[in-house]
Amino acid sequence: MSVVIGWRWSASLDSLVCGFCLAMHGTEHGVDEEMITHPGNCRCAKSPITQSWSDLGFEDGGEVVIQRGDDWLRGQSQEVQERILGKAGRAAWLDGRFELADMVGVKEDDLLGTIGYRKSLDEILGSVEAAIYKRLVA
Ligand SMILES: [Zn+2]
Repeated sequence: MSVVIGWRWSASLDSLVCGFCLAMHGTEHGVDEEMITHPGNCRCAKSPITQSWSDLGFEDGGEVVIQRGDDWLRGQSQEVQERILGKAGRAAWLDGRFELADMVGVKEDDLLGTIGYRKSLDEILGSVEAAIYKRLVA
């Protein structure tokens, strides 16, 4: 029986975090699963997920509560939200048109292999709706 049963995506939650990493923050993955990196300054790390204290036979050790990226972003200033989502993206996100998880894109790169990227607003909403939000904040 292994104590480590997987890993949790852990992004650096500060104003420099990118939308992709923020959306991945807190997601849980199997031990054998590779972390999908992305080009640029990825500062994410794999945090081990261990069996709970009760699984290990201890009573009441307490469980770790992980704040999801969405909750973190809601607590940030408008400036930080716009830097991460873009002005139009922020407006659409506040309207509930998409969740951070919808921004997660994965693609194959000739040099880097499988990489993650943040989808554009056009990709997330479709170009018609994205154009509406871009006009709204222009
Ligand atoms: Zn990252």
